[in-house]
Amino acid sequence: MPSRILLISDLHLEESRPDITASLLRFLEDNRDRCDALYVLGDLFEVWIGDDESSELTQTVSAAFKDFSQTTQLFFMHGNRDFLLGNDYIKLCGGKLIQEPYILETGSQSIVLVHGDCLCSDDVDYMKFRDMVRQQQWQQEFLGQTLEQRREFAREARKQSQLANANKTSSIMDVNQDEVEKLLRTAAKTTMIHGHTHRPASHQFTFDTDGHTLQATRVVLGDWDKFLWYGEVSYDTVELKQLPLSS
Ligand code: MN
Repeated sequence: MPSRILLISDLHLEESRPDITASLLRFLEDNRDRCDALYVLGDLFEVWIGDDESSELTQTVSAAFKDFSQTTQLFFMHGNRDFLLGNDYIKLCGGKLIQEPYILETGSQSIVLVHGDCLCSDDVDYMKFRDMVRQQQWQQEFLGQTLEQRREFAREARKQSQLANANKTSSIMDVNQDEVEKLLRTAAKTTMIHGHTHRPASHQFTFDTDGHTLQATRVVLGDWDKFLWYGEVSYDTVELKQLPLSS
């Protein structure tokens, strides 16, 4: 059977959007036994304050992934909203945590996978926040707080980010092309898949490395707000696909 690998990101699951959760359950059911691996490239949840916060939503989701993982490999990467997703929960889901940048080797292809926020280097304030919350010490201290304290922090951080983003130009919140090319050069690859920006597209461009001009592809997965977006990688192709969200 030819290989078929699926990638999703930016579902932003939350209690107030049962339609998105239903779409995920349907997506998993539809692709059970019909793909070799599923990669979740971050922001699966709208907010994640620690694996010790359990709810009907988190339990429904982990049970569905666990079932899916019986026959299919499942990988999770952190996003900027669920960077605290831990091994306890990922184990409940039957998945494996991967770190970015991750190199997906399949068929004739070798593809760089990242969530995408690391490419948005023009957003200097956000990059500072990112550096802080990705530090082990900060995370240990944060996880040491009560659930209520953590919820409060998450609410406040979200509010601040919405306020700040309202004043940022559209280009600041998109990827920086130099950053994209730098990552491809470092990884010595010509294909990249990421999410985060909520700007689903497949970009073709050229870049120079070691005196050569290479043709490159950057596929951006979409967020699951109005459509269910996914990437599909087969032997020698990468496709971006969309389906309507379940009602
Ligand atoms: Mn994101």
